[in-house]
Parts: sequence; C-alpha cells; structure tokens
Amino acid sequence: MNNSPEAVNVLVVDDEQDIRDGSERILTRIGFHVQKASRGEEALEIFERNQIAIVLLDLKMPGIDGLEVLRRLKKINEQILVIVITGYATVETAIEAMKRGAYDFIPKPFEPDQLRIVVNRAADKIRLQMETEKLTLERQRTLLDLDTEKSRIRTIIESLPDGVLVTNTTGQIVLMNPSLRQLLDLDSDIQAGQPISAYIHDEPLCQLIQEISQGKHIDFDDIPDYEFTLTGDKYLLARGQPVLGEKRECLGAVVNFVDISAIKVLDRLKSEFVAKVSHELRSPLSTIHEQLALVIKDMVGQASQQDQHILTRAKEKTQGLISLIGDLLDLSRIEEGLICHEPEQIRVEEVLSNVVDFLKTRAENKHQNLSLSLPSNSMPAITADPIALESIFGNIITNAINYTQEGGDIRVTVDLAGINVRVKVADNGFGIAEKHMKKIFDRFYRVQDDKTRFITGTGLGLPIVKGLLDSMGGMIDVESEPGQGTTFTMLIPTQTPS
Ligand code: ATP
Ligand code: MG
Repeated sequence: MNNSPEAVNVLVVDDEQDIRDGSERILTRIGFHVQKASRGEEALEIFERNQIAIVLLDLKMPGIDGLEVLRRLKKINEQILVIVITGYATVETAIEAMKRGAYDFIPKPFEPDQLRIVVNRAADKIRLQMETEKLTLERQRTLLDLDTEKSRIRTIIESLPDGVLVTNTTGQIVLMNPSLRQLLDLDSDIQAGQPISAYIHDEPLCQLIQEISQGKHIDFDDIPDYEFTLTGDKYLLARGQPVLGEKRECLGAVVNFVDISAIKVLDRLKSEFVAKVSHELRSPLSTIHEQLALVIKDMVGQASQQDQHILTRAKEKTQGLISLIGDLLDLSRIEEGLICHEPEQIRVEEVLSNVVDFLKTRAENKHQNLSLSLPSNSMPAITADPIALESIFGNIITNAINYTQEGGDIRVTVDLAGINVRVKVADNGFGIAEKHMKKIFDRFYRVQDDKTRFITGTGLGLPIVKGLLDSMGGMIDVESEPGQGTTFTMLIPTQTPS
C-alpha cells in the first residue's frame, strides 16, 4: 500500500525521554505527526483532546500502568491502534496487552527501521479501514441514488400524457400508466399483470404486441404504426418497440399510445373541403378552357403572334388546373370508397394494350422504347371499374416515361401470379433514392433533384394509384436503384372482394 502518512497522528507514551525523542525524530522524518507523553495520565489527556490514530505505549511506567492506559484508551476509542513498547522482561505483559486489544508490539531497545515498519503497518491498516468506510458509504449512496432514480422514472412514466404499457416476453403487461387506462377506457383501479388481450380488444394489435414482446421484430427497425378505434369516435395510434437487454436479447415490448381523434377529424374536414372546392372550381374552369379554345380558333390570322401565344399558354394552364382538380376529386372519391361503383368483367390485357397504345406517342417523342408483353395463355377476366384500371396503368406508365431519360426503355409485362393478375412496369430511368421510397405514395410528394426538377406534376398520381388498388383489394410495390431504373409491381385480385 502506498505510504502517505501526512494525516496520521501518533502519540508516543514512554517515561524514557530518549525513546520519546528518538521515536519522534524517526516518525516525523517519514511524515507522521507526533505528540509525546511521559505518563499515562498525560497520555489520556492528550488522547481525549486530539485526533490520535496510533499510540506507541510503554507498558512499564510510573503512575497508571500501561495495561490500564490501554484499557482506558480502548474505552474512549475502540478503533485505536495501540503498539506496545516492551522490554524482554515484560514479554508476557505484552502478550496480555495483545489479548486485550493492542494491535502490535515492539521490543525495547529497537532499531529505527523496526519502528518505521511497525508504525507504517499500522498506518496502512488505518488507511485501509478509511478506504473501506468510504467505499461502504459510497455504495450506500449509490443504492440510495438508484432508488430515487427508479422512483423518479416511475413518476415520470406515471405523469406522461401519452399512454404507455410495457410487456414481458410472454406478452403479459408488467407496467401501465394512468394515461393508458384513460385512453383505453379502463377502470382506474385495474392493475397490470394480465395478458394484453385482457385490456385491449383489438385482435391484430394484440397479435403485433405479442410478436414484439417475443422478439420477432428485433431486426426490423420499421415496426408498423397501428391505428385503431374502440368507440368509433376515438382513434388511437399505437407504436411499439422491443425492449432490449445488454446482449440485444428481447426482454419485452414498450408500446406508446396517442389519441389521434383530432387529427382524424381534421383530415376528414380537409378532404371534404378539398372535394368541395374542387367541385366548385371544375365547371367554371372548364368553361374558361372551352372559351379560350374558341377564341384562339377564331383569332387565327387576326391577332398578333404574341397575343396568340399568351392565350395558348393560358389554355394550357387551365388544362393543367382541370386535370389537377380531376385528380383531387378522384382522391376524395377513393377516400370515400366511391370510385369502383361501376365494376364490369374486363380483361387486364385489353386495358393495358389501350393504355400503352395511347401513351406510345408520348414515349416516341422521347425516343423511348415502350413495349408490352402479354402472357401466351389467356388470363381470366376480372371484375373491376375500367376507368379505375386505366387510371392506374396510365399513371404508372406516364411516370415511367416522365422519369426516364430520352432513348430509355420501358417494359410492361402482365402475367398471372396465383389468384392475382400481376402487372410490372419496369424502366431504366432515373430511379428513386431509398429515402424517398416510402414517401412517393404520399399526396403531393415529388422528388426534387436536378433530373426531376423540370418535369411538371402534382404528386397525386401514385396516391391515386394506391388508393384505387387498395379499394380493389390489390397492392403495389416498388423497387428502384438510383441511376439504374425503377420497377412498379401491381397485383390485382381476379376475384374482387365483396
Ligand atoms: P402527377 O400527380 O402528375 O402524377 P408526379 O408524377 O410527380 O405528379 P406521382 O406520380 O405521385 O407524382 O409520383 C411521385 C414522385 O415519385 C414523382 O415526382 C417522382 O419523383 C417519383 N417517381 C414516380 N415514378 C417514378 C419512376 N418510374 N422513376 C423515377 N421516379 C419516379
Ligand atoms: Mg405521376
């Protein structure tokens, strides 16, 4: 152990002045602080008034004898380290002293080194003791801190405005906060401890939480958000994450619940508003468009080139606005589930051929090769709204033409995949960077980069396509590599859901 005895006070008690002074010299030199007493009474007095850690005690002194001094010292401070100094004649007394709690002894006469070793050893013991006490104290404090920390976190969870629940690996709820009870309309005294299904009566959500609890989602960072309603007017959004231990083992799930009823109402109001405004704007705009077309036709040869140019631009702009309004109305209808109101028996190949024919000129203008390959065997007809199908394929193929460079390749293929008709539109165009992939199906989302900046569009095509496919029980998927191209795959069920 490292010796730094500066703080250790030693009291030398001996009736022989040589021993007192000699010990003082030796010990002071190695850093101890030394006080001296020639008799027992004096020693006890100094001891009471000072912080003494080690006492060097001669056993044979006039006045109170050494053993009695030892007894009284120990009575004052149980911890005190007493080293008895003893002549050979008093070895037995020394042993007695050790029995009564002396720490060590040193025979008289002693060499300076002997004294140093014995006193240093005692000092080491004191430091060890102090260190242990400090550590014990620190441990107690950390435990106390931990305890307060735990209750602090608990209080925070209890006061969170969002609902929170925590499950263990078997899907049992181990913690839930008051907000959750309120959101789920549970009694305020209902306690954790049961499986989730005892608290939440939404089968798919319970299933999802169960899976997260069992660690089935550890390696997927995008666990889907889950929207549900319990009463029809209250909408909740649940978002779950696995709770991971130090070795990434799953310990359960933590699920956050937010009330999104207000957002839902706003969303509905917004859709209604957009639908209403679009509807109101459509007829006057169409009238303006037709009248502009008439004026332009009539003024041929009569007006200046500049005037004609201005009016032609105005007509194009109104056309753009009309198609935007058309898209917005389509979206509103899809949202209200009104779009497929005229389903008929149709062949997807036929619809595709028409759309491809129609868009061929557009592709040729960009020197692109637009091809359609149909399956060798004929496919079953499907029941769907032909306008909706045209809109789906038209949007996807137009995108492929728009977002592919001049001279590019666009391949449309159709085949049967199980009970679905599968249509693929693959281009070797600009591609879509990963970070945009999820958002391209959002309303008004458009990728803005050097290549796409000058291509006009409103960002409503894909949301319309997705909405239409959803309403038919179909689905759409996209794969893309920036600079290499994009493939949209659509599945349309041959039997429409009732
Ligand atoms: P519009 O409403 O006129 O269709 P838009 O084409 O911009 O406008 P979407 O069809 O919804 O809107 O497409 C959204 C975005 O997705 C596009 O702006 C484009 O950035 C990207 N995108 C779609 N298809 C492709 C494709 N085949 N290749 C590369 N990017 C594409
Ligand atoms: Mg588009």
